[in-house]
Amino acid sequence: MKTVTLIVAFMLACFVALPAGVACTQTATKPAAPAVSSNNVNAAQLLEDVRALSSDAMEGRKFGTPAGARARGYVARRFVEAGLKPFFGEAFEQAVTHTEGGKTTTGANVVGFVRGKSNPSRLLVVTAHYDHLGVKDGKVYNGADDNASGVAALLQLAARFSREPPENSIVFAALDAEEGPGAGARTLVKSLKEAKRNVRLNVNLDMVSHSDRGELYAAGTYHYPFLRPYIEQVAARAPIKLLMGHDRPEQGQDDWTKQSDHYAFHREKIPFIYFGVEDHKDYHQPTDDFETITQEFFVRAAETILDMVRTLDGELTNLEKEMRK
Ligand SMILES: [Zn+2]
Repeated sequence: MKTVTLIVAFMLACFVALPAGVACTQTATKPAAPAVSSNNVNAAQLLEDVRALSSDAMEGRKFGTPAGARARGYVARRFVEAGLKPFFGEAFEQAVTHTEGGKTTTGANVVGFVRGKSNPSRLLVVTAHYDHLGVKDGKVYNGADDNASGVAALLQLAARFSREPPENSIVFAALDAEEGPGAGARTLVKSLKEAKRNVRLNVNLDMVSHSDRGELYAAGTYHYPFLRPYIEQVAARAPIKLLMGHDRPEQGQDDWTKQSDHYAFHREKIPFIYFGVEDHKDYHQPTDDFETITQEFFVRAAETILDMVRTLDGELTNLEKEMRK
């Protein structure tokens, strides 16, 4: 927070003190060296991906808009850089359509994968929606936490598993149309089902970068209690508070079971873990910007999610025995 205050103060100083200050402009636009470092994820790239996806140029990444397509292009380029291969045929893009009130909107998921070393036909599916609310009343809803953050974390996982292949194949899906219809996740799950793919687990990331209390939730163990010991294992060594909850029907609005893309998997009885933070002051506001995420927390959250997916991948055979009980 101190850094942010300093940058703002500096920019104000430039604005006031200098005529079209060249030096100031250069300093302000240079990607800042990250204040947070990490041995497990590329913190600078993680933050850069959030910054880029939540910049005004992306105009809030609304489903069915040119801005949505622009965000998708960015994600597909980053999939290539991360070393992923397209999962459906030749292209990363999987068309998503949604019809409402006689109007059909079209967008696309971006879906890649890393082949597993031991059980390539067994799939873990990591999801994060890249779409957001677009522009309303002239204000850009940049959606830094919701959900540029989940996509950026997914990209870090993708890069890491490309370098150090998993036991099982891991599908990485940046989904469209979560805000509103949820059509991206439904399209992905439907096609996996129709192709009779052996999907064992979904890990969904949606808002993982903004917590003043340093708390990340792993929801889903109410429905799939056999996941609990694996989450406890990771929580015990996590650099942030990893909590379980937000998945019980009696919690009403605080039950997140149906509130993001993991629900499409849950409906097909595919176990899920949903990673997310509690709602904050910038949730679904035009202030959900790169500047308001909590960077240190975000980097540690990404490390924790990587640890979780690595653990689940390694333990999947044991997990499957538990699932059958
Ligand atoms: Zn979201």
